[in-house]
Amino acid sequence: MSIADLLPAEAPLVVPVALEGRRYDIHIGRDGLGRAGALIAGIAPGARAAIVTDETVAGLHAARLEAGLAQYGIAATRITIPPGEASKSYARFAEVCDALLAAKIERSDLVIAFGGGVVGDLAGFAASVLRRGVRFVQLPTSLLAQVDSSVGGKTGINSSHGKNLIGAFHQPSLVIADTALLDTLSEREFKAGYAEVVKYGLIDDPAFFDWCEANWHRVIAGGPERDHAVAVSCRAKAAIVARDEREEGDRALLNLGHTFAHALERLTGYDSARLVHGEAVAIGLALAFRFSQRLGLCPGQDALRVARHLDHVGLPSRLQQVPGGTGSAQEIVAAMAQDKKVKRGALTFILARGIGQSFIAPGVAADDVLAFVTDELKG
Ligand code: NAD
Repeated sequence: MSIADLLPAEAPLVVPVALEGRRYDIHIGRDGLGRAGALIAGIAPGARAAIVTDETVAGLHAARLEAGLAQYGIAATRITIPPGEASKSYARFAEVCDALLAAKIERSDLVIAFGGGVVGDLAGFAASVLRRGVRFVQLPTSLLAQVDSSVGGKTGINSSHGKNLIGAFHQPSLVIADTALLDTLSEREFKAGYAEVVKYGLIDDPAFFDWCEANWHRVIAGGPERDHAVAVSCRAKAAIVARDEREEGDRALLNLGHTFAHALERLTGYDSARLVHGEAVAIGLALAFRFSQRLGLCPGQDALRVARHLDHVGLPSRLQQVPGGTGSAQEIVAAMAQDKKVKRGALTFILARGIGQSFIAPGVAADDVLAFVTDELKG
């Protein structure tokens, strides 16, 4: 049975993350911002809050959030950062921590991450170390953040050595995914987030992949299919996180496509004009399936089906689609070796025996990867 079949058909959708002693709920629906004051007051009565957001999201939605919080007597300071991956830096992290201290956020107060994955990762990391840890609420505003980065407690920033290498596990106390906020997201960013939705089908839920093939355009259009896709994704992620919070086992499955993706992001200098995270993941998913096919693990028709779906949606699925190019096969493999999923020189990949049949494959030979990437670049 698919996870999709287990969900109630109607709102309100609440997905619990069942972590011992730190359980929290993910509220999904088109009225999240309107309910944020009540939900936040419910978990932290009398607390003050600092809203960390980016300039784009602030301009579109922050006033409504602040008004909703004020209704419940929650005084909130706004801390605004520039949008984009470059904000996941040491400099911006220090700035946010200082702004939180200037706002007199105490251990009993709350940090609210109001934005995409960049804001969530940065604000969550700041919350994890501020005064040795304050609670935080994720109010994700991009599809990628709603289906992935706001759930599970991974927070962090980038280093010149690679993405997300400086960070902490710090679970939010509450996640509110207001799917109406996605109406203002650019089509490009929406589709990039959709790559992470598809990923859950590819990991272990083939029926959800079927559903995605049939319903992806309704997910983009909004309405119940969008909420459903967010809820299925959150439920899948919550189940894995509850089994393996610290990525000592199963949680690595969530990295399907990501070893390739992180290398591509690195080689394009984290330049969102060229490639955003979800687009890199889309290419990574297609590559993971074609690589699995080449290793004799996965039927060619499954690899083709994955690439076809990404093509239909308008997501990239080949290295040649990276604007400005990727560099040589050697450079791609060297960039992969910088990734933190490398153990003692051997590459750990998430490979697949078919759609919905992914598994962790440690010790993949770099030579095999190089030969595969070389052929991929030939087209
Ligand atoms: P992002 O935060 O840069 O947001 C993408 C763009 O969309 C930004 O320009 C932002 O201003 C804009 N935006 C966000 N919400 C909007 C809205 N409602 N309306 C209009 N514009 C809006 O990027 P992202 O794709 O959300 O997240 C990517 C980041 O998430 C990467 O840094 C990645 O490493 C991280 N990530 C973390 C995890 C985790 O588990 N912590 C998982 C996956 C990805």
